[in-house]
This record gives sequence, structure tokens and C-alpha cells, in this order.
Amino acid sequence: MFKAFLLKYAEIGVKGKNRYKFEDALVRQIEKALENVDGDFTVSKFTGRIYATANSDYDYDEVISALTKVFGLVGICPLVQIEDNGFDDLAEKVIDYIDKTYPDKNMTFKVDARRARKNYPMTSPEINENLGEKILEAFPEMRVDVHHPDLMLNVEIREMINIYSKTIKGAGGMPTGTAGKAMLLLSGGIDSPVAGYMVAKRGVVLEATYFHAPPYTSERAKQKVVDLAREVARYSGPIKLNIVNFTDPQLCIYEKCPHEQLTIIMRRYMMRIAEHFAKQSGCLALITGESIGQVASQTMESLNSTNAVCDLPVYRPVIAFDKQDIIDISYQIGTYETSIQPYEDCCTIFVAKHPVTKPRLDIVEKSEAKIAEEMDKLCKIAIDTVETIVVE
Ligand code: ATP
Ligand code: MG
Repeated sequence: MFKAFLLKYAEIGVKGKNRYKFEDALVRQIEKALENVDGDFTVSKFTGRIYATANSDYDYDEVISALTKVFGLVGICPLVQIEDNGFDDLAEKVIDYIDKTYPDKNMTFKVDARRARKNYPMTSPEINENLGEKILEAFPEMRVDVHHPDLMLNVEIREMINIYSKTIKGAGGMPTGTAGKAMLLLSGGIDSPVAGYMVAKRGVVLEATYFHAPPYTSERAKQKVVDLAREVARYSGPIKLNIVNFTDPQLCIYEKCPHEQLTIIMRRYMMRIAEHFAKQSGCLALITGESIGQVASQTMESLNSTNAVCDLPVYRPVIAFDKQDIIDISYQIGTYETSIQPYEDCCTIFVAKHPVTKPRLDIVEKSEAKIAEEMDKLCKIAIDTVETIVVE
């Protein structure tokens, strides 16, 4: 029934002279999303609107699933497209459309016609009025409500005539690739995939770094992170994932630092290594899934202490979110089920019973000074032996 989709965007509409760049990026992302579905589509831009027109049969659910993951789209309207064979034919098709789409006719409606082709023999208000009458004749249970209609029937007169009334909510945000690149510290937990998703939603391309500690962490734990990266990549596009073997640095910290400082020192080294990769590949920021007060290493004091080792800004999109709010997003984007698999990441193994909750920077730095030379070597090895994969 639907031969095309009208794809609505919002925020890029206000980008002034750069607007076309955002629109072109959005068109590219829509094309990419549709490349992976069964069916052939043409994506085109017309006077501030984007259309995806089917050139072949396609699977409706698969197409909607692909389009609802494209950042930058706020609405997806399935279109019925008809030839212009005069007003009576239009009215017949509209009535048929309503009949098939809305089994229960006990509702209010409004017709909203737009005449992009000015040689059409009726003006938009005339179309509204005449179509409204025809609809009332065909379905006497229906009533007109021009303010809050249950059914807003849009009729666009172009070369073809588009009829639509349903808008499926899009992912929102900005098109991927319009905002630079950032490095996500991706663990196997619930928070960091959500954090990555949120920043990617603003058009940022993601890279990711994961620290594991074989044999203390399992192959399954690593696979879980690869799976999470893939789930985020369904929205963000391909993610380059750096997998760092952090066992020796972690053992060194474990053996030589006061145990209440283990987590904070480990976090600081993770940030350093992630920042190294970030700078190497031109990332403009680091991203973590930290949230104030969630655990000892996420108090404001601890966050200051992990921040202190980086020059790049650290974005923490879930910083003020409650755990449940983060879980809600992870459900919605489809990472939750993977995140709750029980495979441990390195943080959960080398933990102290009583970590400091208010680390003092001078004390932490003193502890680190004692292992600095050895850690430099171990971190260099960890960097040199990184395993890099592209997840898509
Ligand atoms: P998450 O649910 O994202 O794992 P968390 O509540 O378990 O978060 P922490 O373990 O304190 O919190 O980690 C805080 C942040 O540090 C994570 O959100 C992530 O960005 C980063 N991080 C933690 N562990 C790792 C790891 N093994 N590899 C990469 N990044 C990590
Ligand atoms: Mg974690």
C-alpha cells in the first residue's frame, strides 16, 4: 500500500547556510540504512523534505526498523502515492485509504492539503473543503475537528499525489558524521553503551576502547562488549573498537598500591590509555557512562581525580541520570539484554572491599608515583599489543 515514505527532520532546519550539509549527511545516512534492507529505494530531497521511494517490493517492518535508527529523523510517514487523475479519483482513493487504515470510523478528522504544484485546478482550502465533504458522505460516523482531530489527513499535490496520516516517531538527534569523533570507554555494563548512544545521537562518530584482563576476565566478557558495540553501531554506524589487554598494569596496581585506592588508580590509567588512542585517531573527547554517586569511583571527588589525568574533555551524558532512567534507555535501544549477561569485566574482579569514596588527589598521585616507571612500560606494551576491530 505504501510506495514511499516522507522523512521529517527538525533541528537541522535551523542551521542557516550549513543547512544543506546537514541535509546531505542525512540523505546519506538514510541511503546507508536502506542499503541493508531487502528492496531498492531512491532517496531524494525536495524543498525541505526528504522522500524515500520504493523501486521494488520491500518488507515494511524491516524498513521501519532501519529508518527509526537514523539519527536526524523525527518522523517517518508512510505515503500512499497516486497519479493525478482528477479530483473525483483523488476522493475515491482517499476514502479507500481511510477505510483500509482505520477500521473504527468513530473519530474526528481534518484534511490538510498542500499544493506544491500550483497548476492544480483547486486551491488548498478548496481541496480541504471538498475532500472533507466526500469523506463525511462516505463515513457519516466521522466528524470534522479542525483543532484537535484524531485523524489528520495530509494530501500533498506534487507530480504525484501523496496521501498520509500516520507519523512514526524517529530517533531524533543529528545525522551521523556532522559533529566529529569521540572515544567511548565501553565496558560490559548498562551505562556506557547508553552514554555512547546518546553522544552518537548528536551526530558524533564513535570509537571505543575496552579494557580486559585475561585470564581473569573471560572470552565471553569480551564477546559481550563486542556485541554491545555492534548494538550501538546499528544507530551510530561502524565503531572502531580497541581491545586493550590490561592484565599486567592491573596486577601491578593490585600488588603495589593501597587497596582502597585500586579502583581510582585503575580508572585513571584507563583514561590515560583511552586518551592516547583518542588523540591518535583525532577524537575530540572521551565518553564514559559515569553518573554522580552511583559507586565509590563516581563520587564528585573521584570524578575529579579521574578527570585530572586527561586534557581532552570527558563527556558523561548520564551524569545526572538515575540508574532506572539509564536502564529505560538501554531497554529502548536494545542493549539491556546483552548488558545484563553475567560475565565480569575487569573492574569487578580487582575490587577492594572498602574503596575510598573521597580520594585526595595528592595521595593518589603519591601512590602512582611509586609505580609510575613500571606502569609506563606496562601501559606502553598494552598500547602496542592492542587488538583493533571494526564493529558494524
Ligand atoms: P557501566 O555500566 O558502563 O559498566 P559501571 O556502573 O559499571 O558502568 P564503572 O565500572 O565505575 O561503572 O565504570 C565507569 C565507566 O568507566 C564506565 O561507564 C565506562 O565508561 C568506563 N569503564 C569501566 N570499565 C571499563 C572497561 N573495562 N573498559 C572500558 N571502559 C570501562
Ligand atoms: Mg562496569
